[in-house]
Amino acid sequence: MKKFLKVSYIVFFILALWYWLKMSFKDNVNLHVDKSAKLLNFSDDLLEHLKSIHSLIKVNVGVVLDGKINNFTGWRAVHSEHILPTKGGLRYSETVDQDDTEALASLMTYKCAIVNIPFGGAKGGLKINPKKYTMPQLREITKAFASKLINKGFISPALNVPAPDVGTSEREMEWILETYKTLKPDDINYRGCVTGKPLHRGGIAGRTEATGRGIEEVIREIFRHEDIVKEAGLKNKLKENEIIVQGFGNVGSNLAKHLYNRDNAKIIAIGEYDGYLYNKKGIDINALIEFYQKNKNINNPKLGEFKDNPSELLELNCDILIPAALENVITINNVDKIKTKLIIEAANGPVSFEADQKLYEKGVMIIPDIYVNAGGVVVSFFEWVKDISHIRFGRVEKRFQEQKILDIINLIDKKTNTKTDFDTIKKIVHGADEEDLAFSGLEDSMRNAFIEIYNAKKQIKKSFRESAYYVSLKKIRNFYTAEGFPKR
Ligand code: NAD
Repeated sequence: MKKFLKVSYIVFFILALWYWLKMSFKDNVNLHVDKSAKLLNFSDDLLEHLKSIHSLIKVNVGVVLDGKINNFTGWRAVHSEHILPTKGGLRYSETVDQDDTEALASLMTYKCAIVNIPFGGAKGGLKINPKKYTMPQLREITKAFASKLINKGFISPALNVPAPDVGTSEREMEWILETYKTLKPDDINYRGCVTGKPLHRGGIAGRTEATGRGIEEVIREIFRHEDIVKEAGLKNKLKENEIIVQGFGNVGSNLAKHLYNRDNAKIIAIGEYDGYLYNKKGIDINALIEFYQKNKNINNPKLGEFKDNPSELLELNCDILIPAALENVITINNVDKIKTKLIIEAANGPVSFEADQKLYEKGVMIIPDIYVNAGGVVVSFFEWVKDISHIRFGRVEKRFQEQKILDIINLIDKKTNTKTDFDTIKKIVHGADEEDLAFSGLEDSMRNAFIEIYNAKKQIKKSFRESAYYVSLKKIRNFYTAEGFPKR
């Protein structure tokens, strides 16, 4: 009997391990959805509908390069059409596949609901290593990929609006915009077919930095709540804590820049795919950004010690760990080696479901991706509104605001018989320009969402992640009760 129990235990263990190992990114997301949906008493049929992908396209893009046809596979997934247009990044990477694209599309749905942005969730990707191609080749490939998506209704200002993600930037968005304009010249709102495009093409000031800046707002908000700082075991002030950032791309570098310049933050390590830079006294982020822009790597011995073991980075001692590169970097394989107090999920899906459970049991606080990196889509929304309203934010009222401030100063001077000096006037009299307004709206969205999640956390007494999904699912459910779906 004893032997039988022992064998059963081993078989059970192997089966459990096999189950965890074969779990995909999408499975991970849906396990989180299941947990919070249970708290909201979702019926099985509604839950199944919400977890399913509402539409999906897989394309094969053939492009002639140097006299040979090169084939690329791409996807665009629409997770939920409860609000249109749907919104989500376009990724260029060799690891892109259908499952991950679907998972990332679903995260977009939950993310938009959390920050009250009226978009459904979508995502797209092309299986390609962009580093292997020249700029003109990438332009050809992007235009061919975009044409397929546009012709099938998977890119349009009214239905489906991409933005930059891993491996893409405003450059690709501009190429897509050009393609859309050529194919749909009668669409007056054509500039709204993508966000994250260059300013001269209808982009918005601040969009490139928005995700990183939004994450900085999240961290600032945490430090406004003494009880959360205490619960996480952090030092009272942001600048007293040691921070590690994995990934020095768009999100990681902009986040580090804002933390360093606006909060005096001490970032002791920055990781890239080929290693990490370590400096216990804190890295000079401005100097690193300058170096990275010139050299495309972070190996600068003047700024810290470079170690060529990238995975070691996550296992270093720190107060705040910020994965800002890829999904599934903290899993069952390394979770026991994580030595931090707070994880800020800047990347999408950096912590696997089982690692998340273990970290929660260990008392490591995690602020989840579906809230943390929503700043990008918040400012994308402002960009889209700008494009379909055909006017820059602040254009009409900036000078009016300045005149009103000047009138108030003059009135105070008159009543108090004083004269405000020119330098002070110059400092105070400043009407909001587009970037001011974008960042103000971003801060407001991130702070309001934090409070909503935190209130839910106090109510349901669960983790920040469960609370974020709870808030999101509760809002999305309202759409289904109003659209002819049975009331739940
Ligand atoms: P990016 O391509 O600009 O940057 C990613 C960086 O990570 C690159 O510098 C890359 O070299 C580095 N990297 C790759 N493998 C690594 C490894 N093993 N260790 C350390 N670094 C590694 O992409 P991004 O736009 O900064 O996106 C990063 C993450 O943030 C992704 O998960 C993305 O989905 C998410 N995100 C991005 C935005 C946005 O506005 N760009 C918005 C929301 C979420």
